[in-house]
Amino acid sequence: MTASTEKPRTGSYEMDRAHGLTHADVFGSLTFTGDVMLKRLPTDVFDKLQRTIRQGLPLDPGIANTVAVAMKDWATEHGATHYCHWFQPLTGTTAEKHDAFLSTDGPDGATSTISGEDLIVGEPDASSFPSGGIRDTYEARGYTAWDATSPAFILTSADSATLCIPSVFVSYHGEALDKKTPLIRSNHAVSDQALRILSVFGADAGVTHVHTTLGSEQEYFLVDRSFYQARRDLQICGRTLIGSPPPKGHQLDDHYFGAIPARVMAFMTEVEHRLCELGVPVKTRHNEVAPGQYEIAPTFENTNVSADHQMLTMHVLETVAEDHGLVCLMHEKPFAGVNGSGKHNNWSLSSDNGVNLLNPRDETHTNMQFLVFLTAVIRAVDLHADLLRASVAYAGNDHRLGANEAPPAIISVFLGEMLSDILDQLEQGDPRSTKKGGSLDLGAKTLPLIPRHAGDRNRTSPFAFTGNKFEFRAVGSTATVAWPNTVLNTIIAESLDFMATELEQRVGGDRSPERIERIVTSLLQEVVKNHRRVVFDGDNYDDSWHAEAERRGLPNLRSTADALGALRTEKAKKLFAKYAVLSEVELDARVEILYERYYKVVEIEARTLVSMLRTEILPAALRFQTELAGTVTATRSAGLDCEDTRDQLQGLIGLVGELRTAADAVEEAETSPPEDMVAHASHVRDALIPAMKRARAAADALERVVPDDLWPLPTYAEMLFIR
Ligand code: ADP
Ligand code: MG
Repeated sequence: MTASTEKPRTGSYEMDRAHGLTHADVFGSLTFTGDVMLKRLPTDVFDKLQRTIRQGLPLDPGIANTVAVAMKDWATEHGATHYCHWFQPLTGTTAEKHDAFLSTDGPDGATSTISGEDLIVGEPDASSFPSGGIRDTYEARGYTAWDATSPAFILTSADSATLCIPSVFVSYHGEALDKKTPLIRSNHAVSDQALRILSVFGADAGVTHVHTTLGSEQEYFLVDRSFYQARRDLQICGRTLIGSPPPKGHQLDDHYFGAIPARVMAFMTEVEHRLCELGVPVKTRHNEVAPGQYEIAPTFENTNVSADHQMLTMHVLETVAEDHGLVCLMHEKPFAGVNGSGKHNNWSLSSDNGVNLLNPRDETHTNMQFLVFLTAVIRAVDLHADLLRASVAYAGNDHRLGANEAPPAIISVFLGEMLSDILDQLEQGDPRSTKKGGSLDLGAKTLPLIPRHAGDRNRTSPFAFTGNKFEFRAVGSTATVAWPNTVLNTIIAESLDFMATELEQRVGGDRSPERIERIVTSLLQEVVKNHRRVVFDGDNYDDSWHAEAERRGLPNLRSTADALGALRTEKAKKLFAKYAVLSEVELDARVEILYERYYKVVEIEARTLVSMLRTEILPAALRFQTELAGTVTATRSAGLDCEDTRDQLQGLIGLVGELRTAADAVEEAETSPPEDMVAHASHVRDALIPAMKRARAAADALERVVPDDLWPLPTYAEMLFIR
């Protein structure tokens, strides 16, 4: 909901502060939704639009003109001069092409307009976006289409304001060329199947739609802008390609949840203010594990809106950081050897009357409907662990998955004590009890007795049940959440379809509660037996889990090059096509882009690395070599012994030699890739990345011996600790 009073605002943070406006005052003030819509649209138009937004019903094109004019009036009152269709192409970023409201064809000179058609479709010459071969460059036509279910908003930057209309992006033939179209399709697929389950339980009365819900926590690093400007690797690749670990990392755990530094707090406050204006329900902020690392998390929303809000969150973090002389690093692993960043994807299912379908409630063992949804998730993750893994596979995330700070590449489900106990009971017969958490006595009478959850948390699991939702923790911090959620929704839709079909067939006409309970229990028992291997409540960081997972037959797809193959299987093609999420052509296109991005990203890193080694590191090392050689000569000519310095010089010359050889090896691996896309990715994994690691080791060894005043780059210690 928006702020109750609609104040014309220009998005000036400083003015808001001067007028004492709080986050709550400005919440949603730059979005066309809720109260604003209600006030500015005729009732029938408002109602029709709400039915599309809330109940997933088809959009009535007849209302477009009225909505367009109201939106334009509202936006111009807030200083907007332009509008754009704002969409998420397959680059993994957002795109916008602005058009002025100004129109000069009228007989009276200039007017300010936007028509219903302008609102509903756009036709950018978008030939330069990746299409994965769906479209040749000479076939430039693509369409953007209004997604009325995500609120339009005004984006301000410098002195300009632009009305952004959330949109999808498709080809001339209607193939999805963006991340949102399949996400929206996958939401419908989940809804259709979830409604069938509700209907088996007679719980579908008054429910027209089931939403997936999403709250994604964003981790990020902040570094001072001057350091960023002095590092080519950060500028080009978003991560450091060389750099020796600082003497102190997060060993003392004194940064995590620590007091937020004043400069960072000023940054966070402005970020939250701006996100509130855009209707993003930001909620939580804290220091993260690594020095210089932080987190921001919103309250969950329906997945489609949440996915747009997530993109806005990254945009606002990056732009506000600049105003504060900082740079926000969103990369999964900006600093080797230091905790990386993820984007925990909290996901659940909710009916349109607001019931969370993954809420176990008190006597969980009797809550058959919940258990059906729960086991459907377990089944989906077991059958399609490879697809979930592939959905988070890209070069940046490879540094993080399995690096003892994030879950391994093995996808498993954590359920916790209470639910695992119910699965045990199910495997042995009818479940008869639900474990209770009880309460916790803190041993001091002035402290309260606190209610305890029925199970502990597990921070090491890639897919953890956390009370009334699942937390998919393998998503990387730069990810566009639309894609992993598209995959998640699709595999869930398939599982719900399976469960619904089995139940419908077995239940038949006789729907007495006892009969339904008996049939549901036996189906649950079968599914639990077949798929329990994917459930693991232990420590996913422990090495023994790798062996155990292998024994259980769970896939362990370590790198992107290993993981992407899952999206090329017949199983995957059939699945996405069956639920009308992606046709085979659309899926193939995406896979091609994912492979291409993988090797292109690593190759850009490789070239950046070689240029830094040759033009920054090597010259610094040679300068030191000259200094040392000078010392040796001068000392000797003074008639003194200089063996130690001579040895030091000898050692340095050795390291310089290693660096030269390693840089040559990176260059060679980078310039000779195979033609075929899959072979190219394997070559990057097997030859280029190891060569880069060796070069990095050589550079880092030099960093430890070359004097500070000769070292050309800001060090890890400077970047992480100077704020
Ligand atoms: P943490 O995992 O760091 O302890 P929190 O428990 O504070 O984080 O919450 C994580 C996220 O889960 C928040 O964004 C919250 O809105 C989201 N969340 C809570 N309930 C749901 C739900 N039903 N569906 C989706 N996300 C949810
Ligand atoms: Mg979390």
